[in-house]
Parts: sequence; C-alpha cells; structure tokens
Amino acid sequence: MRPILVAGNWKMNGTLAETRTLLEELLQRLDRTQDTGHKTPDTKRPVEIVVCPPFTALSEAAGRLKGKPVALGAQDLHWEAGGAFTGEISAGMLKELGCTHVILGHSERRHLLMEPNGWIRKKLGAALAAGLTGILCVGETLAERENDQTWAVIEKQLSAGLDNLTPTADRLLIAYEPVWAIGTGKTATPEQAQAVHRQIREWLAERFDPKFADRARILYGGSVKADNAETLLNQPDIDGALVGGASLKAKEFAAIIAAAPKQKEGTCCTESS
Ligand code: PEP
Repeated sequence: MRPILVAGNWKMNGTLAETRTLLEELLQRLDRTQDTGHKTPDTKRPVEIVVCPPFTALSEAAGRLKGKPVALGAQDLHWEAGGAFTGEISAGMLKELGCTHVILGHSERRHLLMEPNGWIRKKLGAALAAGLTGILCVGETLAERENDQTWAVIEKQLSAGLDNLTPTADRLLIAYEPVWAIGTGKTATPEQAQAVHRQIREWLAERFDPKFADRARILYGGSVKADNAETLLNQPDIDGALVGGASLKAKEFAAIIAAAPKQKEGTCCTESS
C-alpha cells in the first residue's frame, strides 16, 4: 500500500500574516483529528502532507512547520545553481529554506507562461540532483480531451519531462491535473481520473520497471474538495491529491486529508522518503 500524499498549492496567495493564520489553524485541526502520518490510526493509510506557499512565505512557513508532520514545498525553481537569472530561485536556495518538495510543470506555467517541456525536464533534473522530491504535473486541455488526444499529450509530457532521468520512486510524484478541471469547479469523475492514473502507472512500468511503477505515487489535481476527495482517493491508482483553491482553507484542506481511505486488512505501507 502506497502512503497517501496530499499537497496544497497555494499559488500566488499568502501574505506572511495569512501564512501564519492558515498554518496555525491547519496544525490545530490536524492535531485534533490525528490524521497525520505520525498519528494515523492503524486502520488508515498513512498520509503525508505538503504545503507549497509562494516563495515569499517559505521562510515563515518553514519556521511554523519545524517539528510538525507537514513538509514544505515550492511551486517552481530554476535549473541553474546560481548566476545571472533575474527573478529566479535555485534548488539549493529552496533546500536552504527547508523545502523538500517542488511542483514542476504546473499547467498555469505551461499555458500562461508558455513553459516548454524542455525546461521542465531541466528543472526536474536540478530538483532531483539537489535531493528534492519533484511533483511533475501533466494534463490535457478540454480541446485535447475532446479530440481524443488525452493520452498522447500526457505521454509526451511524461517522456519529455523524464527524458534521461532515473529518479528513485520516492523522489518523484506525478500529478495528473486535467487543465479543464483546475480552478473551474469541474472535477474529472473518479473513473476518468482512475483510467488516466492507470495508464500513467503502466507507462512508468515500461519506462522504468514494474517495481518502480508499483511504488511511485500518482496524485490527482483539479478542483479537489472535501466532498469529492473520498471517492477520488478510493481509486486504486490515485495515491493522493494536489489541491489548489481548497488548500487555502484550513478546514477544507484538513477534511481532504481526513478523507484518506482505509488500509485493507493485512496490508502495510511502503516506506517513502
Ligand atoms: C492546482 O493548482 O494544482 C489545482 C489543482 O487547483 P484547484 O484545486 O483549485 O483546481
């Protein structure tokens, strides 16, 4: 059984004061429900939690999360270690701030900022080399889905993003995020999401090996909320969620975490990072 991972992508939200308030409330709620990885009752699958605030709030968040069972992630990085790259932030800088995870290839960057696959591959390479866990986002637009190009698009994003890389399964998270479901209130049905997750796992088995594919975690993202999380997380190939809007509300995010499915009797979980 793979541990569930729930990551919150705060996007360009979170002043320092908002970061303090949101994390305080989240930690209190997690303490109360005892649904964190360390305190999970035996019957629940372990849950790992990651929050990804904007760069400006990382230091504040790192201070608040010290010693807490919530990891810190960033929303992007530059592949170079340093130099004349105005506005950019390197993997080493993120590590220094306490980050363990980084989101790469988010559709808002692919589509609004025209970020090409080649850059995403370089960013993932830099993240892995620095010891960060990369959350590689893939997903099709509505037009691509309607033209039966869903798998072709995702396959291209996966092969280009992972070109010549050999990550260990615990350092790579794939997030399937249909573009038409991000921030729109539309969610892929559990069956639609499961079908793509299954294809991604089969692709990973071919590209790496079946053991890698069995260990690798594939998250779903796209309007995940407290009221749809349970059915999504109950799909056999959905190992967690990348949550945008709902991660900005402590109550909602805690409820998504609490929706992690029960572990089947007699099964245990694989160790992650
Ligand atoms: C995201 O930003 O990765 C995301 C899935 O956003 P939302 O949950 O708001 O659709």
